[in-house]
Amino acid sequence: ACNTNKKQDTNDGGPLYQDASAPIKDRVSDLMSRMTLEDKVYQMCQYVGLEHMKAAESDLSEEELDINDARGFYPGVHSDSVGRLAQAGKIGSFLHVVTPEEANYLQSLALESPLKIPLLIGIDAIHGNGLVNGSTIYPSPISQAATFDDTLIEEGSRQTALEMRANGMHWSFTPNIDVLRDPRWGRTGETYGEDPYLVGNMGIATIKGLQSDDFTGTEHVIACAKHLIAGSSSINGLNASPTDVSKRTLFEIFLPPYRRAVQEANVYSIMAAHNEVAGMPGHMDKFMMTDLMRDRWHFDGFYVSDWNDVSRIALWHHVAKDFKQSIEFSVNAGMDMNMHGPVFDKLLIELVNEGKVDEARVNYACSKILEAKFRLGLFENPYVDLEKVKSVNFSEAHQKTALEQAQKAIVLLKNEKSMLPLSENGNNKTIFITGPNANNQTTLGDWVSPQPEENIVTMVEGITKIGESNGYKIDYFNSGDRSKEITDENITIAAQKASNADICVLVLGENSFRHDWARKTTGENIDRATLKLSGNQIKLSEKILETGKPVIVLYVSGSPIAEPWLEQRASAVLNTWESGAFAGQATAEILFGQVNPSGKLPLTVPRSVGQLQMVYNHKPTAYVHKYNTEKKVPLHPFGYGLSYTSFEFSKPELTKTTFSDINDTITVNVQVTNTGKVEGDEVVQLYIRDNISSYTRPVKELKAYKRVTLKPGETKTVALNINAESLAMYDHDYNFVIEPGDFTIMTGNSSSDKDLKTASLSVPQKIKLEI
Ligand code: BGC
Repeated sequence: ACNTNKKQDTNDGGPLYQDASAPIKDRVSDLMSRMTLEDKVYQMCQYVGLEHMKAAESDLSEEELDINDARGFYPGVHSDSVGRLAQAGKIGSFLHVVTPEEANYLQSLALESPLKIPLLIGIDAIHGNGLVNGSTIYPSPISQAATFDDTLIEEGSRQTALEMRANGMHWSFTPNIDVLRDPRWGRTGETYGEDPYLVGNMGIATIKGLQSDDFTGTEHVIACAKHLIAGSSSINGLNASPTDVSKRTLFEIFLPPYRRAVQEANVYSIMAAHNEVAGMPGHMDKFMMTDLMRDRWHFDGFYVSDWNDVSRIALWHHVAKDFKQSIEFSVNAGMDMNMHGPVFDKLLIELVNEGKVDEARVNYACSKILEAKFRLGLFENPYVDLEKVKSVNFSEAHQKTALEQAQKAIVLLKNEKSMLPLSENGNNKTIFITGPNANNQTTLGDWVSPQPEENIVTMVEGITKIGESNGYKIDYFNSGDRSKEITDENITIAAQKASNADICVLVLGENSFRHDWARKTTGENIDRATLKLSGNQIKLSEKILETGKPVIVLYVSGSPIAEPWLEQRASAVLNTWESGAFAGQATAEILFGQVNPSGKLPLTVPRSVGQLQMVYNHKPTAYVHKYNTEKKVPLHPFGYGLSYTSFEFSKPELTKTTFSDINDTITVNVQVTNTGKVEGDEVVQLYIRDNISSYTRPVKELKAYKRVTLKPGETKTVALNINAESLAMYDHDYNFVIEPGDFTIMTGNSSSDKDLKTASLSVPQKIKLEI
């Protein structure tokens, strides 16, 4: 776009870029020809929304307002001065504008600027447009991954895009396609788990739902793959802390979802990561941003920084002397937009004038940001209709998808002597419910602001509604909303109530609910040094278990909980994750047998923090030796999840047992039979192992899966495909190749060897893939 900029007017004398019928590339080039270097740099500047700023300002002392606060507020830059910058055309984008009124107001300011360029408004709409009041809250990403249902996830994202557009937002900072390796990381619930293939699929489904093919029009938004790269595997489990993985691990584990997000879903933006990898901060990693993602894998959108991370190249990482040099390194490496704040523009303009940053970088960044604004139709439709918002937010169709996702996400971990489902005939029995996550919005997970109570079904509400209609009495006691503050006194009361009941339900877990800072036990910048339940939850559980009553444990948590003792003592255990607005309804439907559980673990649940990093797709020597005080098996393996029915699997049958051509697709057929008494869904999983390879390969890797529904006694043949990409690895020179030799193909319903049946596939000669 840079060298061909041409100013053109339309027949009626208006500027061509304002002509909706002109081709987008001509509109970009016409507009750019009318822009100064300064104007172009302004497009690269993003600020946090005014309401958000005002709220933070009201918490800050005068003194704090006058220093460059860690939260990203700057001297002299208050909400009113930011409004004036927008009016002067000096801001290209905002984030965290949380009402349609504010979105319209900001656009009206931007449209007063000389070139009348509308704003691109971004928000963390991670599982629904949750920072906006009244939105549909879908299950969090880790919960979504547990559905193993890409189509359903794509549908939820398509709906989220509609809610965003109705509210004046155009860009979601999702999907987080960080492959989780260490669940101490407080952002575990924001990920799709530990497997690169599942993470890639979920990421692609999310991007397609949000962006459609090219987000043209007014129903779609831009997605953002984040965070490049490997922040999910920091050395000490803490957010933003150094990662030190090899190039091989980057290519095999962390990068595949990014390559696929670009090549299979045309993701239009990528966010760099807070962390460094092997000494290189993500925000100035030219190899990653430009050489690999853009030049080799053809990423054709723009990069956005993470919150204040350009300045942190100097402030935190100490590899630049000041903010100006940080900008130089970052923009030269490929960065296109700064989140958030002033001074960036002034310093970048200086750097270009001094010849330290090539103007072509600015032209590229600006052209990509403008292209997005044209494709999104913002020049024609900068405002949203405030009347329409209500009919789109939390619409019935969206509620239905959120509920279905929750029903499919919940994982039944234990069901002793078929304790569940509870009988449809309650006979006046009492169910006693307690625990910190029983009756509040922790079930919504992170990146959600408090939602209207009438939109949310808490665990207590869901269980009460269905329980009472089945003839049970429900007794709920709030033993403390904050796990750290479950008092001894409350534990005594709870135990007393438990002893008077017939069945106890303990709603335990963690709390990542963003606007509940005092109660949060996990989330961004709240990482865990243990995988055990926080606070006094175990103490509470012990007393309830001592009553001898059957106990059902419900975990509400985006992260795995390692409490083998508790799971052994409880009669039934469900991981309900953070299953969104309908968490309580979906859980109750499962408890009472209206829905048969079918979620599967998208991560390994270790027995203790000391087992980390424990993943199913480990290398062959990982468990040659053992620990002296811990087992070397997990509490639950990846892919695991029980049902109220039972399934039997045939051996995998391959349509061909040799893979000889790059375009081959081999179908693996597995017969699955429902051998139990109720209908149920099963997720059939296919893993491979490269038996002998030039570099060590994982003992198994997920390469395909399919969810099927089977009536009692029914058998279905499930077809799973293997293609060249399923078998390829990186060779010595990082070519993507299939090495000759044999592969083991494994199919079944978890990653555990005992649940898998095998077949063999051979590759007669080396095949090189051009990706
Ligand atoms: C997070 C990003 C998020 C951004 C904007 C950062 O702290 O790391 O994932 O998109 O804030 O809210």
